[in-house]
Amino acid sequence: MEFINEKEIFELIDNPKLNNPTLQKEIIQKSKEAKGLTLSESAALLNISDKEILNELYTTAKEVKEKIYGNRLVLFAPLYLTNLCVNNCLYCAFRKDNKELKRKTLTIDEIKEEAEFLVGQGHKRILLVCGEHPKKASMEFIGEAIKTIYDVRIKNGNIRRLNVNTAPLSVENFKILKSFGIGTYQCFQETYHYETYVKMHPDGPKKDFSWRLYAMDRALQAGIDDVGIGALFGLTDWKFETLALLSHAFNLDQRFGIGPHTISVPRLEPAFNAPVSQKPPFAVDDNSFKKLVAVIRLAVPYTGIILSTRERAELRRELFNVGISQISAGSRTSPGAYKETQESVDEYQMEQFQLGDHRSLDEVVKDCCELGYMPSFCTACYRSNRTGDRFMELAKTGNIGKICVPNAISTFNEYKIDFASDETKKVAENFINSELDKLDDNVKKKTLKMIEKVNKGERDIFF
Ligand code: SAM
Ligand code: SF4
Repeated sequence: MEFINEKEIFELIDNPKLNNPTLQKEIIQKSKEAKGLTLSESAALLNISDKEILNELYTTAKEVKEKIYGNRLVLFAPLYLTNLCVNNCLYCAFRKDNKELKRKTLTIDEIKEEAEFLVGQGHKRILLVCGEHPKKASMEFIGEAIKTIYDVRIKNGNIRRLNVNTAPLSVENFKILKSFGIGTYQCFQETYHYETYVKMHPDGPKKDFSWRLYAMDRALQAGIDDVGIGALFGLTDWKFETLALLSHAFNLDQRFGIGPHTISVPRLEPAFNAPVSQKPPFAVDDNSFKKLVAVIRLAVPYTGIILSTRERAELRRELFNVGISQISAGSRTSPGAYKETQESVDEYQMEQFQLGDHRSLDEVVKDCCELGYMPSFCTACYRSNRTGDRFMELAKTGNIGKICVPNAISTFNEYKIDFASDETKKVAENFINSELDKLDDNVKKKTLKMIEKVNKGERDIFF
């Protein structure tokens, strides 16, 4: 754990020299180049309290996000395979000591039904999630689940990128996971603070801090191109967690030549029979949360930042403005919940934690358009093998924006035709037209050709 230097991080947090408005303004100025920040520069920005400088931070975070990713917001939904778990994380409803939770592992047929529901909503990306269970969440089962999901076809739609959030694996098992054709492998450290980590994870394999901390090293060694890190905000001091998360990102970049593909910022939510979740020991208020998202955007400009439906719709809207680039929508956090919700079965006693945003994908899509963000269902990079360092090279040089806009418009047009409600269709149509008007003639011509193909029935058009 040498790259998480707790002493250094606490010294940075307590350093009065980093609490200086002139310095903070200089750092914001520098961050406009979108080349990232050092740990101490990030610490200085986390200290901003002056309202004017704070606004400058937010405007700059938005600018930098748009410089790299444009106005696109990538959409996905989680799919839970099982809520059985051998661990006992004090914040999670799936913990093994929660004897009142209704336990369920989906059958392959049920996984197909869940995937059909999501594809039928218009999703093109799924995040596979499960509790840690050697038997119920075996590699063989995960492999079969992935194949089943990729094979689903509904109304011209299918899942084109499947990311996975499971317990850390050995290099050998990561190689097997890669062979299933996954996108990003995600695993959150939860807390980078060792003492807190030990307290929160009293038993089960997750007790082992280092095994989790080095999961991404093993995944990358196994040839998985894209990895996603994260921290569960609320377990310890948010400034510590943000700086530790950045230390992890910098370290991966230094040693593997690619930083994390994504950073997730889940905040602790109330969970059934999970003692720590009812009253988070270090609850992060909305303002601090917004600030930390903006600082992460400036510190690692090329990394996707993921915001889930844990957060309320109004706050999500505000956070899109300070650097978020990927969001979940229409999510449920218990196995089988998509189908069950349709049949109105009470899911509370099976879910992992409570959600803040209950809107459907269609409602979120419409809202994004009205706010000026393009809902992106695009998976062109992955389909053209632009993953890992090839993706990072494009992102770091700010070039993904150029090839992404036509691809994103074309896949959004697919969504509009195949899945949008009548109301959303109208909003989407206007939005696409206004996006086309922003393009230069040559690119506009190419994009219109793509749109024409989609209008005639072709799908998955990209360049
Ligand atoms: N079981 C595996 C693990 O723990 O790594 C994989 C997925 S776990 C179901 C997904 C994530 O949910 C955890 O990493 C944790 O950060 C988050 N989580 C757990 N309890 C939560 C809560 N009460 N509120 C918000 N997020 C929570
Ligand atoms: Fe199990 Fe993951 Fe929940 Fe911990 S966070 S109890 S490992 S599902």
